[in-house]
Amino acid sequence: MLRGDISRFFESHPLVLYSLPLYPSFQSLKSFIMNLLKLVLSFIFAFVLSASSFAQQTIIHAGTLIDGISDEPRSQVSILISGNEITGIENGFVSGTADTKIIDLSEKTVLPGLIDLHVHLESETDPKKYMEQFTFDEADFAFRSTDYAKRTLMAGFTTVRELGGSGVNNSLRDAINQGYVDGPRVISVGKSIATTGGHADPTNGWKQDLMGNPGPRQGVINGVAEARQAVRQRYKNGADHIKITATGGVLSVAKSGDAPQFFMDEVNAIVETASQYGMHVAAHAHGAEGMKRAVEAGVLTIEHGTHMTEEVMDLMIEKGTYYIPTISAGKWVAEKAKVDGYYPELVVPKALEIGPKIQSTFEKAYKRGVKIAFGTDAGVFPHGLNGKEFGYMTEVGMPAMEAIQSATTVAATVLGLQDQIGSIEAGKMADIVATDANPLEDISTFETVSFVMKDGKVYKQ
Ligand SMILES: [Zn+2]
Repeated sequence: MLRGDISRFFESHPLVLYSLPLYPSFQSLKSFIMNLLKLVLSFIFAFVLSASSFAQQTIIHAGTLIDGISDEPRSQVSILISGNEITGIENGFVSGTADTKIIDLSEKTVLPGLIDLHVHLESETDPKKYMEQFTFDEADFAFRSTDYAKRTLMAGFTTVRELGGSGVNNSLRDAINQGYVDGPRVISVGKSIATTGGHADPTNGWKQDLMGNPGPRQGVINGVAEARQAVRQRYKNGADHIKITATGGVLSVAKSGDAPQFFMDEVNAIVETASQYGMHVAAHAHGAEGMKRAVEAGVLTIEHGTHMTEEVMDLMIEKGTYYIPTISAGKWVAEKAKVDGYYPELVVPKALEIGPKIQSTFEKAYKRGVKIAFGTDAGVFPHGLNGKEFGYMTEVGMPAMEAIQSATTVAATVLGLQDQIGSIEAGKMADIVATDANPLEDISTFETVSFVMKDGKVYKQ
């Protein structure tokens, strides 16, 4: 119950305040206690009754409903919502009581709030980005992240997994949860874990006297003890899960985009320590060897997966590892690498080589039966364009309904939140979006989501 609800409670129940009895000194203590007890009980009873009646009743009239679970859409249904929770689905357009708020989406397709499992809300692509690490304070990143978060929410993504920033992402998550900032529900990894010189070593490309040794606190580890320490530090800092950079990456100022960067004992130590704290591990990986080590160690997701071999695909199927493709990021970096000066010199050949391959890797992995969950790497391209990924997925053979499920029920399962989000059914949080066209007929409609509700609150209509 929120503070506003409590004051409303007293406004509508003034008798509770005025009926506080006055006890003369001669009255027995027993009688005093009995009366006090009765008063407390009636107070609690009235409070509980009021709490349930405060919840706003809302009904959404959905022209077409894709609920995230069923393979078939339904037409003309009503979604019943109480406060922030979906309480039922009924056939036809029902009307409720005089106090019920009706939201007319009878011309639209209604879906569960979308989930992007790979975003970076602290930054956004820009040729000037490489200078920001020297010129930006944490507050600069923080203020910008609020704009990126809002754009992401307005694009229909009501939950995201934030896969690595400076640690501002943990604070952003809290600010959104506390209602200070409009944005998606954020599941955060804090700062990624890398090895010295590896992808996500924050001092790559600096002059040598500035490089120093960032160490496990900043997520740079060497050896098993530091691997454990870095995971525990993230837990202490409030991260929800762990991200490692299992191989080189495209945008870091370092030569190799795909060499393995952790020894088996290091990645084992990370996964083992993380699981003790109830955290899963996401592994950025382009090269097959680093990917294989990460899958063998038991990471939950492989990000990008560019040079994924059939051997790795089969290992992922065996281990139940999810593939998060991020085709959008691949396409963006391949395109921008052709623009003179957009990326540093060391980055350009990596972007040109790795970027265009991700979509065909996705196609092969999908056809072989690897489990796929939706993720874009937004931030590598402008925030808010996350919905384009659906088109890239269906373009090479994934049916639209499966692509939708990868961003709803499947993604919710990756996060372990399948009982709360990812589908439109009774008992789930009211995270609901709508598109103008039916995405089963026109997948590009995800680029312009026209209605967004998160946790029962309407953000876009
Ligand atoms: Zn990323």
